[in-house]
Amino acid sequence: MGKVAVAFASAAVVAACSVAAVMVRRRVKSRRKWRTVVEIVKEFEEGCDAPVGRLRHVVDAMAVEMHAGLASEGGSKLKMLLTYVHDLPNGTEKGTYYALHLGGTYFRILRVHLGGERSYLDVQDVERHPIPSHLMNSTSEVLFNFLAFSLERFIQKEGNESNSQGVKRELAFTFSFPVKHTCISSGVLIKWTKGFEISEMVGKDIAECLQGALNRRGLDIHVAALVNDTVGALSLGYYHDPDTVVAVVFGTGSNACYLERTDAIIKCQGLLTTSGSMVVNMEWGNFWSSHLPRTAYDIDLDAESSNPNDMGFEKMIAGLYLGDIVRRVILRMSQESDIFGPSSSVFSQPYVLRTNSVSAMHEDDTPELQEVARILKDLGVSDVPLKVRKLMVKICDVVTRRAGRLAAAGIAGILKKIGRDGEMQMQRRTVVGVEGGLYMKYTMFREYMEEALVEILGEEVSQYVVVKAMEDGSSIGSALLVASSLQS
Ligand code: ADP
Ligand code: MG
Repeated sequence: MGKVAVAFASAAVVAACSVAAVMVRRRVKSRRKWRTVVEIVKEFEEGCDAPVGRLRHVVDAMAVEMHAGLASEGGSKLKMLLTYVHDLPNGTEKGTYYALHLGGTYFRILRVHLGGERSYLDVQDVERHPIPSHLMNSTSEVLFNFLAFSLERFIQKEGNESNSQGVKRELAFTFSFPVKHTCISSGVLIKWTKGFEISEMVGKDIAECLQGALNRRGLDIHVAALVNDTVGALSLGYYHDPDTVVAVVFGTGSNACYLERTDAIIKCQGLLTTSGSMVVNMEWGNFWSSHLPRTAYDIDLDAESSNPNDMGFEKMIAGLYLGDIVRRVILRMSQESDIFGPSSSVFSQPYVLRTNSVSAMHEDDTPELQEVARILKDLGVSDVPLKVRKLMVKICDVVTRRAGRLAAAGIAGILKKIGRDGEMQMQRRTVVGVEGGLYMKYTMFREYMEEALVEILGEEVSQYVVVKAMEDGSSIGSALLVASSLQS
């Protein structure tokens, strides 16, 4: 072999070796990155762990905080608000009633017609629209003018048929934010939650604000009750089944209410009601306990929210937040590796991943996880390998499992407080009414919640606890409550 040929051959060998070395380095690097992201998910999963022993501590803490919140004003993070609702609708109500419901994401308007018997409940004309986002940080005037305008349109559409006698229309205002009531038909806003920020409204009478806007439009509508959404849900539950004593909402936010004995409401001595009980709006979104499995992602979400240090429980279990917890874990993965490619900066945008997408990814049963790929593509992130998509499903599962299990612990806490957890007395049939988009539409959330409730209560006691889903329960139930409050 000539000298030139030898030189060529050795150059080729050197080149081949360096290509191989580069490939090996790449493979090692990519394996290291993969290990890093797997480690991130594993650490997150450990941080979210909620075994039944831990849940039992949460149950106890919930019951203790309920006692404290009933004992004195400001005695607990749970406000345990009086609602002045003591007689729930029993089926004898008659007439036509309206409800306007301001939720966290949607507002709804509906009309119900009641025929004086339980079986005669006719829900007519349900309208449901997303709340225009600019309203959430507008002014009280803009918000209430918008609601009055929407109601006017609703009423114009019905023509004369449902109000032929020209009687004043009676309306429930279902309001899903904390209110301090002075009676069933009025109360002032304590604070905003779920991303709403109209600070001038805090301390104002909410029913009066709506009534004023309706009057300005010349509408002959009377705001007869101001009703928390959970109380509406309880009313509908009770109307159909008087064993319903607890109602919980899992929608954009989360909250619960229940029927309490008036003598247990120690902070309000001498409270007399004909039934001897009153519905208490717990505002459980603000519940906190050191037993809650909180991660660094939850801490950051809270710090960067519009209401830091507030609504800690809600931020772990409600629809507004689950998507953003998932997003934060993905963001960290993308920061520590390039597994999502160059477009991963989209994950820096707060709330870009909605909980609807989380459930769609979680419940994707295609073998190649095509739904996950589609959702990522819609966010501008393409070509994410299957194994990474599988990790994303895992994150959705971890977040939702924790949420479902904590939600169950919350419910069991209420059952404990009212002696329906099988510890103190013979178990009685107890119905828990549940509503809200997260519960109604996210099967895995619902299943995790129900599974954990059985784990906590045990098979025997769980047989007496019936969890009943109620679509649009809070709006329909509020209209029923107006009917019963005007007839009592
Ligand atoms: P609101 O909170 O305005 O009363 P809903 O009770 O309908 O309204 O809840 C809406 C919330 O429920 C959404 O913001 C979302 O977080 C959650 N949600 C709705 N649909 C789904 C779904 N398919 N999967 C998971 N969560 C959902
Ligand atoms: Mg709601």
